[in-house]
Amino acid sequence: AEAYPIILQNKITTHNPIIVVGGGIAGVSCAESLSVQNIKLPILLVSGSPVVKRAVNIRNESGTVLNFDIEELSLGSLTTEINRVKVLYGIVTTLIAEHNAVTINNNFSIRYSKLCICTGATPQLIGDESTCVYGIRDTDSVELVQAKLRDSRRVVIVGNGGIALELVYKIKGTEVVWVIRDNAIGSVFLDKGAAQFMLSEMGNKETRNKDKKGFRYIQGSKGNLAYAPGGVHIRGSALGPDWTDELDIDDVLTGKNIRIEYNCEIKHIQLQETNNSMVEGYNREWPVHVLLTNSKIIECDMVVSATGVQPNVYPFSKDSHLKISTDGGIIIDEEMRTSLPNVYAAGDACTVNWTGSAIEDNFWFQMRLWTQALQMGNYAGKCIASHLNDEYILQDFCFELFTHSTKFFGHKVILLGNFHAAGLDKIDVEFLLRYGKGDEYIKIVLFQEKMVGAVLIGETGLEEMCENLILNQLNLTDLKDNILNPDIDMEGYFD
Ligand code: FAD
Repeated sequence: AEAYPIILQNKITTHNPIIVVGGGIAGVSCAESLSVQNIKLPILLVSGSPVVKRAVNIRNESGTVLNFDIEELSLGSLTTEINRVKVLYGIVTTLIAEHNAVTINNNFSIRYSKLCICTGATPQLIGDESTCVYGIRDTDSVELVQAKLRDSRRVVIVGNGGIALELVYKIKGTEVVWVIRDNAIGSVFLDKGAAQFMLSEMGNKETRNKDKKGFRYIQGSKGNLAYAPGGVHIRGSALGPDWTDELDIDDVLTGKNIRIEYNCEIKHIQLQETNNSMVEGYNREWPVHVLLTNSKIIECDMVVSATGVQPNVYPFSKDSHLKISTDGGIIIDEEMRTSLPNVYAAGDACTVNWTGSAIEDNFWFQMRLWTQALQMGNYAGKCIASHLNDEYILQDFCFELFTHSTKFFGHKVILLGNFHAAGLDKIDVEFLLRYGKGDEYIKIVLFQEKMVGAVLIGETGLEEMCENLILNQLNLTDLKDNILNPDIDMEGYFD
């Protein structure tokens, strides 16, 4: 990769560069944001990989819901694309905070005026390639997994977040055993109802309901399903599995060659070469045997691990003054500052420790996602500039509302605010629900008669309305029965 030569700086000067470490979305958006601020200092991006990631074609799906594409660029082309930013291909190996310096490749040190750590996170794997366990981290690992899948008859997938969901949906022609710790799929993002909705998608598309408002359910007093012609609501926070009992998921899965092992984890992985077999009748036809905590043994060709991430903080956490959260991230305050002077952090590497108004209302929380990496990197750039210029900075409004726009099982999914009703007193929680088989699944979370979150699956067109109602905290006592009534144009009224 082309990289700009760097002049070593041994003296403390007022012109030391602002150093951003990490060429992911957070680091690049921080450097981009710095490049348009009113600051004179040089900006240096240090990346441990020769290819960097940049968010492009950023568009607002609604007021706060962002969508963008991710472009991969060589370090060299980044310098031509972003004015004033120089790049260095190297790994930061030490932080010498007392000298405001970082060491690169254990070789030389550079002093900084301000440092922003955007080193991302690494997937936690339950094994490695020597045990036929493959993880997905980046483009290279995706290609490797794809190639291995082509030669596999049966694969075990472990994990229950977005990566596992997408993988299970995309794999064709290979038998899948999906091992999840919970009692429903996709529990990081989806409730049980949404999970069942997704699973029904694995079946044939002919069951898709053309009249998208056709199926609506209300949970009756005995917990039975009942057809409700208008808007519906369900009281209590446990949107149990009962309302979806009538969807025949097992049939759907049989056709797809997918088996789900719920409520269990992998206990042990054994390769064929190993002499000790786990059970009598060890089948040598399969190279890998996986023992589950429910005592089942799965014979397969490979295991794909998609079980969460661990922030990359090692070279920095060697400094005992840098505060690290229990989840492994670098703790930052509401202006992206770490516990060390002049050191900031953004993206997957950090853990927010905010106590601002947004948090009090519980509409925003941290999740290690592209959008948040972009927003944090961008905001960190603004914070650094405002601190250098001694200016007051208001927290960016994007931190007022959690938003995530993605696709699961081919469906558009938008998650807003406290969409999983976390930490709310169940007595005051109410769910509004609309369901159209194959087309849409909408769940609105009300807390004390006000909207606090929403799950919108499908082309619902309700994102703007929900966003506004969450942010303005309108009392919905008189409106809630009609908010999801498809015959009333509520979205036009509120957006
Ligand atoms: P990263 O993108 O991890 O970038 C970190 C950078 O720091 C890298 O360039 C690395 O080389 C560099 N680096 C690390 N240590 C050092 C060092 N010591 N010195 C120098 N450089 C260093 N999110 C979504 O919103 N939607 C999705 O669909 C989605 N899918 C995903 C699929 C996969 C397989 C994975 C792994 C994640 C996915 N995510 C998704 C999460 C998303 O990718 C991350 O939240 C986001 O990329 C974090 O960006 P970042 O810039 O903080 O970190």
